[in-house]
Amino acid sequence: MTTISDNLRRIYRTLPEGVELVAVSKFHPVEKLREAYAAGQRIFGESREQELEHKVCQMPDDVRWHFIGHLQTNKVKRLIGKVSLIESIDSERLLRIVDEQSAAAGVVTRVLMQVHVAAEETKFGFLPSELEAYFAEHRYESLRATHICGIMGMATNTDDKERVAADFAAIAALHRRIKALAPDLRGFDTVSMGMSDDYELAVAHGSTLVRIGTAIFGNREY
Ligand SMILES: *Cc1c(COP(=O)(O)O)cnc(C)c1O
Repeated sequence: MTTISDNLRRIYRTLPEGVELVAVSKFHPVEKLREAYAAGQRIFGESREQELEHKVCQMPDDVRWHFIGHLQTNKVKRLIGKVSLIESIDSERLLRIVDEQSAAAGVVTRVLMQVHVAAEETKFGFLPSELEAYFAEHRYESLRATHICGIMGMATNTDDKERVAADFAAIAALHRRIKALAPDLRGFDTVSMGMSDDYELAVAHGSTLVRIGTAIFGNREY
């Protein structure tokens, strides 16, 4: 049986310099997070506000928490100040509320814009054209307490590697187009893509941040 520490070591060996790893710990008990922490892992990803809050107070202070799930606007306030990155901004309304709550709390929140390129109907996120319009019109200039650090996306959930590769290529291309549309946007450098089954392909297409759960912690018990 491989341990969490073995899994992390194996994954880190395959990641090029400069690509960061989020250990997606959603639905896993704190003991497993502690094991990953003891092996040196510092970035953890959670998808539910309550679960994140529960884990934050049981883990050391130097953990950097990423929120990666669909965020309901009424949960934003509780998250602000606890997370190092919200990867899943999927509407302008949510972004506005994050900005308002961050300003009210006197902090700057770092976020990624979630883009929807996959074939599935159910996935959250902006369409590439919506994001391009958002940046082309420089709407981000109205943000006071939010720093948009890049984009996050998921590939279609399929065994068809060509389709998955095309999705990653589309996300990376969108990131380059946005940088061209908004050259004054600073620190817009993160391309978060790649999960347990497809992260190597994502990295080959320019991912700078991979989000891996199952390949580290095993299957989740929902
Ligand atoms: C659950 C989740 C992951 C991790 O998926 P695995 O297949 O377990 O690696 C990555 N990203 C997001 C947005 C998720 O919700």
